[in-house]
Amino acid sequence: MMSDFAVTEITVSRTSGLLLTWDDGLTASIPLSELRASCPCAGCLMARDGDSRPPADNLTISHVELHGSWGLAITWSDGHNAGIHSLEVLRRHAEAAHG
Ligand SMILES: [Zn+2]
Repeated sequence: MMSDFAVTEITVSRTSGLLLTWDDGLTASIPLSELRASCPCAGCLMARDGDSRPPADNLTISHVELHGSWGLAITWSDGHNAGIHSLEVLRRHAEAAHG
């Protein structure tokens, strides 16, 4: 299934999180801790399955870019950039936060 949603604007606060604006006007902020905790890469999935130690709380975002039309690629201050956050998942977060 294709995602029906597009992000029209991404505002990056390197130390607090992302503010996403969607093409239907919904806006939602996503805190850094939540983004890193939901990183979908294999390394983070394995780390979460095993040791549930949270990531360092002094992480910041170095860079964010759209990955094709379906995701966001986030580069962290520790160099981690393996996870592509799907817009569909982020959209669900946004709707839940506003529900
Ligand atoms: Zn990861």
